[in-house]
Amino acid sequence: MTDDLCVQTHRQNPDRPRPALDGLRLCHGHHTELRRLIAELPARHADLTRPRGAGGPKITHKTDPGLHIDEAAANLRTQIQHDLLWWCTYVTRERGLLGPRRDDPFTIAAWLTLHVEWLAANEHAALHLLPVLRELTGRAIGITDIPARHIQLDEQCRTHEDGDRCDGIITIVVRGDEWTARCPECRIDQDPTPYLRAAQTGQWITADGVIRLAAVYGITADGDVVRQWKHRKNIRGIIGDVENLYESRSVLDYLTKRQADRERIGA
Ligand SMILES: [Zn+2]
Ligand SMILES: [Zn+2]
Repeated sequence: MTDDLCVQTHRQNPDRPRPALDGLRLCHGHHTELRRLIAELPARHADLTRPRGAGGPKITHKTDPGLHIDEAAANLRTQIQHDLLWWCTYVTRERGLLGPRRDDPFTIAAWLTLHVEWLAANEHAALHLLPVLRELTGRAIGITDIPARHIQLDEQCRTHEDGDRCDGIITIVVRGDEWTARCPECRIDQDPTPYLRAAQTGQWITADGVIRLAAVYGITADGDVVRQWKHRKNIRGIIGDVENLYESRSVLDYLTKRQADRERIGA
């Protein structure tokens, strides 16, 4: 193992060695992921206190049948706490430091964040901490998952690895009021804003584009529905040679209005 290469495996072209950041054992992407997963873990831990909301139906855990969802959540909370403390102890022991004064996940994660450069430079931590964080995060998401809508946009992923743009096609995942752009290729969750903006900047969009945008707003539409919207002058469109085209601004205005109406009725 060479000292200046990232110790993690890479999904795209796994055989190509990736340079680590200066003095570290992780590349830029994995270093960023390490920092993010540590920072997010306390919130994941907190979410597990209300996995399905109070008084919800009793749901059996997918990967652990027979185990009640609340037990699975409680076990995972213990595990997260335990693993955070374990890594904290690892740093204090290796560096001869005093640990944080409190042992709640927020305090420990904040303390570990202060040492993230050291963790990324330490061979053992660089290799083993990231998979632990990924596993805990994945299990927490699995338990706290609320039903999500998945909408595929025809937008190419914007992440780059070593100058190559990822060729994944972005899916927008809408979970409650949380919107995420997810790439099935690089598996990086991203800010959906630039993708939505790109999907919206085309002045004229086809009926398919209207249907996709409507899905983003939780509205099911088909070709007939889109034609009706135009007929009722809810949206503006033109009759094209091959297919009709709709003005994206008017579509967005209409969808936003529909969503606001729905929220008002629901409130
Ligand atoms: Zn890497
Ligand atoms: Zn990607």
